Amino acid sequence: MLHLYDTATGTVHPLELRNEGEVSMYVCGPTVYDMPHIGHGRANLTFDILRRYLSFTGLKVHHVANVTDVDDNIIERAAELGRTEADVAAEFEARWWESMDALGDLRPQDIPHATQYIEDMVALVGQLVAMEKAYETPDGVYLEVSTVEGYGLLAQQSLESLQTGARVEANEDKRSPLDFALWKKAKEGEPSWESPWGPGRPGWHTECVVMSLDLLGEGFDLHGGGQDLKFPHHENERAQAVADGKVFARHWMHHGWVEVGSTKMSKSLGNFTTLPDLLARCDARAYRVLVLRAHYRSPIEVTPETLADAEKALGRLDGLARRFDVAELLAETDGAFVVEGTPPATGVDPGASAAFRARMDDDLDTPGALAGIFELVTAAHSAADVGDEDEGGRLAHTAAVLAAALGLSLRAADVEVDEESARLVAARDEARRAGDYARADALRDELVARGWTVEDTASGTAIRR
Ligand SMILES: [Zn+2]
Repeated sequence: MLHLYDTATGTVHPLELRNEGEVSMYVCGPTVYDMPHIGHGRANLTFDILRRYLSFTGLKVHHVANVTDVDDNIIERAAELGRTEADVAAEFEARWWESMDALGDLRPQDIPHATQYIEDMVALVGQLVAMEKAYETPDGVYLEVSTVEGYGLLAQQSLESLQTGARVEANEDKRSPLDFALWKKAKEGEPSWESPWGPGRPGWHTECVVMSLDLLGEGFDLHGGGQDLKFPHHENERAQAVADGKVFARHWMHHGWVEVGSTKMSKSLGNFTTLPDLLARCDARAYRVLVLRAHYRSPIEVTPETLADAEKALGRLDGLARRFDVAELLAETDGAFVVEGTPPATGVDPGASAAFRARMDDDLDTPGALAGIFELVTAAHSAADVGDEDEGGRLAHTAAVLAAALGLSLRAADVEVDEESARLVAARDEARRAGDYARADALRDELVARGWTVEDTASGTAIRR
């Protein structure tokens, strides 16, 4: 059974399921106002790996991730671009899924959007006001956190110590600086919805609590996100559920961030790389390898060196696929057992499989699990080198199945280039020769959107899957 670190208790303990054989998980999704960056890529890969592994062990996973399609950033961006909020949100959501598809992440089964849940959110806010756990001010409705049992659970601090550390705010209408907005009254020209407190929009923390409980029900198994979401976002989601008398998530999982030169990478620091940029520079699978090589709670460093290293490791896996005929096997397994949770294909070495599961069950020790796969690669070659092709094939098969359980596919050869892609390559070379770099970039984006990795070589544009 999977043992996982739980932020709420600060301990590693078994992921005990509400319903036998089924895992319900909610992961906080994007606010869509800009290109996804590599921090988002890590977040999605982390939960994709968890989901695939749970499926591999025979569990049925219900994965929900939201899209925040109304918020201050979107409003600001729309004003900047002279477009509507809905238009901006739709465009950047499309960019988001393009990148996540390219990374090989399975899409969540449910993708609720904030704007589809306004009525339910108004109802929850009204309920909390009626219970006298929330109050109205001139600019909105706030939850009074001192009415919430155990506030500070995820921050791992008491209410008193949080209050001492809280910033003194200009908003004098709030009863405590920790109280947070459930509803924001609309300012002139902002998108708004009707409510008992006048036109406005819901606060961000209200969205996830309403959508997760609606789609997964009370006491769902796992709630996840990046470390930076622990407090205040997840704390405040939980606070609303508790105030409303509901059982919320039973387990909290948070992953580490991406670092650039040992500083956290973030949009606000301006030191971020977008996913399309990264995917144009390396094999998308290399980023998955890089993520797998670190424990999910540790930071990862994304540099040209760490990426090149990951590509080298990937080369060893692909080398296995070239020597042993695993292509047929991957066609059978890739996607099939992963999505449906069917037990793995036969012919897998039982000892290696058990060792793999022991590592993964230990708080998702992906570095250990991956190392085990590479030991199999070495052993497969050694067996074949001394003439034992059958043993080599068996070990190669095992390595391929276990890699697929982490979402890593092996490739024996590059796929054939279709006519349209070949045309785009030729057009890009022509644009580069003519010095039209804007057009060359646009053509590169088109190729990336078609699933290619694009490289500039001495002889022109080179593409591979
Ligand atoms: Zn959330």
